[in-house]
Amino acid sequence: TNRNKFISVYDYFSKDMLKTIQAQRYFVENLDRALAEKWVTVYYQPIVRTANGCVCDEEALARWVDPERGVISPADFIPVLEETMLIYKLDLYVVEQALAKMKKQAEAGLYVVPISINLSRADFYACNIVEEICRRVDGAGIGRAMITIEITESIIGSDFEYMKGQVERFRELGFQVWMDDFGSGYSSLDVLQQIHFDVIKFDMRFMKQFDNTDRSRIILTELMKMATGLGIETVTEGVETIEQVDFLREIGCTKLQGFFYCCPLPFEKILRRYEKGRQIGFENPQESDYYD
Ligand code: C2E
Ligand code: MG
Ligand code: MG
Ligand code: MG
Repeated sequence: TNRNKFISVYDYFSKDMLKTIQAQRYFVENLDRALAEKWVTVYYQPIVRTANGCVCDEEALARWVDPERGVISPADFIPVLEETMLIYKLDLYVVEQALAKMKKQAEAGLYVVPISINLSRADFYACNIVEEICRRVDGAGIGRAMITIEITESIIGSDFEYMKGQVERFRELGFQVWMDDFGSGYSSLDVLQQIHFDVIKFDMRFMKQFDNTDRSRIILTELMKMATGLGIETVTEGVETIEQVDFLREIGCTKLQGFFYCCPLPFEKILRRYEKGRQIGFENPQESDYYD
């Protein structure tokens, strides 16, 4: 019976794998259609300045809203688009959507804050991503400082010199580059030593493990000091409670992002949220930043 048990578990496992492979093929085969028919949509999550509670940035986060399967999270479709080198299509689409959003807001007389775009390692190999993004931003007549590039520390990895060059190119052109998910990988300090980032984003695992007696509090405190010493601004993501906000303010984290403030929302909903919460302030970026 043990043997039978083993076989049935194995059967289940392989069926599961087959399902996964089918799901992955689905994303690859339908990407162009999903972009054309707007199944891929962009959600925006505000980032708040710790000192004044004003919205100072927004992060663009992709969602695949499938006519049959509903809202699908990036964890399900990003990895396969990365493996197949197609992710650049989605990421350039996200850039275009973010630029269109800024234009609409500006035309309606609403405040506009810089929008963060997440890039994957494959983006830097599938096309000349720096030029592709630059061309779109310039073409929209929007200042480059309004688009922020988020790069996960782990994508720096092997081709260090190449990635360093790409980060520097973005920055020379006037884009901000933020290091995302800091503290989730292994090479963090070495990368920080050698590449200049405008902002370090602390991975949400620091908040997940947050507890007043926890070691992560001590580690986060010291890392924050280090960033401050380097003259780099800091964001902590995954902020969900007032205790976390108070602690992060105390240790000098300059920006905060998380469900405590707002979850990622589609364009229309985030505008309504901003209208309703008139107490929500905005940092008005310099007009010279917004207009080219
Ligand atoms: P990320 O860049 O680190 O984004 C932060 C993730 O944390 C988002 O998940 C966001 O919804 C979630 N989050 C924000 N606040 C909280 C909170 O208070 N608590 C918790 N538990 N979660 C919070 P999401 O949208 O599922 O994205 C997951 C990852 O997928 C992103 O991590 C990013 O690496 C990647 N991703 C998302 N959109 C894109 C995209 O357009 N292009 C690329 N290349 N990657 C993307
Ligand atoms: Mg990010
Ligand atoms: Mg990321
Ligand atoms: Mg992150």
